[in-house]
Amino acid sequence: MLRIEDLDRPRSQPGAETAILATLTAFGFRPDGPVARQSERIRLYEAALQRLDARGLVFPCDCSRREIAVLTAPGQETQCVRDCRSRLSGRSDACLRVALDGLEPVQIVDRSLGPVLFDPVAHRDVIIRRRDGIFSYHFAVVVDDADQGISDVVRGADLLGSTPWQLGLQKALGIAAPRYLHLPVVVEPDGSKLAKSRRALPVSDLNPRDTLADVLRLLGQPGDRARHEQPMGDYWRAAIAAWDPGAFRGVDTVPAPLLTQ
Ligand SMILES: [Zn+2]
Repeated sequence: MLRIEDLDRPRSQPGAETAILATLTAFGFRPDGPVARQSERIRLYEAALQRLDARGLVFPCDCSRREIAVLTAPGQETQCVRDCRSRLSGRSDACLRVALDGLEPVQIVDRSLGPVLFDPVAHRDVIIRRRDGIFSYHFAVVVDDADQGISDVVRGADLLGSTPWQLGLQKALGIAAPRYLHLPVVVEPDGSKLAKSRRALPVSDLNPRDTLADVLRLLGQPGDRARHEQPMGDYWRAAIAAWDPGAFRGVDTVPAPLLTQ
């Protein structure tokens, strides 16, 4: 199943979808059905918003960026800082949030990282529709995952912090949570985030087998560079047969090899 997450149209790059499809094809992936695009699923998000609103959980928040910035750590999701839920905002440019308090401590048992506990106080009032009218990423993916019957979320450990927001939304919407597995992300050898210059490089479609061999090795899997002539289907069958998730269990970062290119 392939879902293109293109809700943020003002910021999406022209041709991005074509490039994504080309890369997936080069790496041997072909969707079994039609491509789902979030931009064509807005009605679904509106219906979910109405469900929450009918339960009195949605409130407009017009806290300014400056007010929020003072009280929110960099990189953190924003929170309402002026208790907007208790005073009705009439402003049309307010964002919409879901009141998620009184939550129990949120815990997941990640299939790779093990038990992870999140502080519920730090995960209240998730934004579901931004002030520009665009549905938020967290809200759209939670609605989509449920609608598409997604059982397992597998993604980079840099997105671990998204999990409690999404769990809160699932709970509010009465949706069962999928299973989660967070894979290690590649960092600079000194442990810092990948340098901008490297992160800006798109995945090359030219030598998918070499790229996969590199990635598999970073995950502690046998990465066989010799299988150059193999069709991608055979490549994947061999990689899946040799797959050992125990090799990176509990690991959330791996150092990038020094690049020579
Ligand atoms: Zn607010």
